[in-house]
Amino acid sequence: MMTASTIIQAAEAVVAIGLLGTALGLILGVAARYLSMPVDNRTESVAALLPGSNCAQCGFAGCKQAAAAMVEGRAAPNCCPPGGVSTAQRLADLLGVRLSADASDAAPQCVAWVDEERCIGCTRCIRKCGSDAIVGALKQMHTVLPEACYACGLCQAECPTDAIIMKPVLPTLATWHWPKPAAKQAVTV
Ligand code: SF4
Ligand code: SF4
Repeated sequence: MMTASTIIQAAEAVVAIGLLGTALGLILGVAARYLSMPVDNRTESVAALLPGSNCAQCGFAGCKQAAAAMVEGRAAPNCCPPGGVSTAQRLADLLGVRLSADASDAAPQCVAWVDEERCIGCTRCIRKCGSDAIVGALKQMHTVLPEACYACGLCQAECPTDAIIMKPVLPTLATWHWPKPAAKQAVTV
């Protein structure tokens, strides 16, 4: 049989926990309101245009960090090699900046390609690929789906038989751009 004092103690405990929860909730609410870092919504839009492979070829830890740097003006829209010129142009349009003249000199877009003669079917590349662009099975020949590959190069670094080559992609009407005229050689007389 619960005594009156036990009931009072239980009620006091419930009230105390309730008050503590309310106080913590208020503190968190105030902190979220006044201490939160302003997020530039463009960061999400920029990150959505990037390959998302977090291959760090841009020099940042991952695509999210590169997106934040682009929005803050700490990185140029063409800092993402796997994205190529077409992605750089879309990023420049989104950020409202001009793509620098040398952006068109960026390395040609590439995709991974598996040399069937060298592939031993170890599946190490499949496990590295963040876009499921590689098809294959254990001890079977592997191949890359070019439309899914964003040239992060992680599989190439992983392959024990150097069976993976990054091959340039032929430009399409959408990705072709007028190459910059070669710099005139200074004529010495
Ligand atoms: S196939 Fe290779 S290069 Fe292409 S996305 Fe996958 S890991 Fe990257
Ligand atoms: S890592 Fe290289 S050898 Fe292994 S399955 Fe992939 S392509 Fe073939």
